[in-house]
Amino acid sequence: MKYYSTNHTAPMASLEEAVVKGLAGDRGLYMPENIKALPKKFFDNIDTMSFQEIAYTVADAFFGEDVEAEALKKIVYDTLAFDCPIVPVTEEIYSLELFHGPTLAFKDVGARFMARLLQYFIKKENKGGLVNVLVATSGDTGSAVANGFLGVDGIHVYVLYPKGKVSPIQECQFTTLGKNITAIEVDGVFDDCQALVKTAFMDEELNKQKMLTSANSINVARFLPQAFYYFYAYAQLKKLGKADNMVMCVPSGNFGNICAALFGHRMGLPIKRFIAANNANDIFFQYLKTGRYNPQPSKATLANAMDVGDPSNFARIYELYKGDHKVITSLIGGATYSDEEIANTMRECYADTKYVLDPHGACGFQALKDLLQPGETGVFCETAHPAKFKEKVDDILATDIEIPQRLQAFMKGTKQSVAMTKDFADFKSYLIKL
Ligand SMILES: *Cc1c(COP(=O)(O)O)cnc(C)c1O
Repeated sequence: MKYYSTNHTAPMASLEEAVVKGLAGDRGLYMPENIKALPKKFFDNIDTMSFQEIAYTVADAFFGEDVEAEALKKIVYDTLAFDCPIVPVTEEIYSLELFHGPTLAFKDVGARFMARLLQYFIKKENKGGLVNVLVATSGDTGSAVANGFLGVDGIHVYVLYPKGKVSPIQECQFTTLGKNITAIEVDGVFDDCQALVKTAFMDEELNKQKMLTSANSINVARFLPQAFYYFYAYAQLKKLGKADNMVMCVPSGNFGNICAALFGHRMGLPIKRFIAANNANDIFFQYLKTGRYNPQPSKATLANAMDVGDPSNFARIYELYKGDHKVITSLIGGATYSDEEIANTMRECYADTKYVLDPHGACGFQALKDLLQPGETGVFCETAHPAKFKEKVDDILATDIEIPQRLQAFMKGTKQSVAMTKDFADFKSYLIKL
């Protein structure tokens, strides 16, 4: 399968090129040349299949031409070493819990898949040498990528993060791992980390000496596998006899997660309609209302992983529907919530149902409460475990929620990091000397 750029000027790329490059040469996002519809038989029987079987069928439609069946199966099965169950919160609203992976957020799925696919290409080419993955993080991405690549042969990951600007729980998820993961603590802010990574990719001398790649969230190998769990959510609802009028609601920031759901829909997944739930960063909500896409500086909110003022994957959604505002608004609804509304939702939901929402999932739950029609069944993505935001959640709910074992395990490890200035010359000389 070939991949084209949403900006339509860069040359088509193979899967391997698209994965290694991340962003196309014209700064567009890669799109698969075709999105295969899956047969009716698959959807008829989907409720009898395991998560891994369902995911492999979906993966085969995207990657089957480029990765041998056995290898692809192993990548899928290794990636999905944890469940993504739907859990009832009310009679007609279910939580799709995407936090049962190693770093307790949905980004584990994409990061684990990408790590294994990259390893497959490295082995196949027998490139020897080490591939260096550079990733800048403001918190959650670093942990998912670091844990996704942990122990993967032939790859070394450098996580650049701003000193003193990530929460202690987040920090320990990428600084205590050791092995092929190095945490680099930059004396600066997130933008400085990102600038160091971007400059490194443009530096000719560095790229001649070292094989560098990025694990950015716009990478096709991170974003497409997120489609797996939408098919599985449908399968679980079907088993309950409630899948006929399914509405899927996705708390959205950079819009990669909902975009994967829309790709699933294009493959025939019978979801009736979608809702993108925003926090106060309501660029998409405004687009739905007005037809104008008007990027804004991002605002800091309670649901901080959704603080995006210019969502990258909007370009993919626009491309998928050829920019037809009517088609987009007939399939996708929107909602936007202030911090106060998010906190109220968390309190109300806890009081009524005992279900603990994290601030991101709370946007999804509230959007379904506000927009679900009679006869519909809603599923929202619970995109992270509430314990990842323990201080905020406890403060809002007056609780002392338990930190899951696997998160506690990170917190017991010893922090190891390399101190770095925000000066590119320092970072470059560090990489060259490796
Ligand atoms: C990344 C993230 C989101 C936003 O997902 P997008 O794919 O960027 O829209 C939502 N919630 C949590 C917890 C996240 O980490």
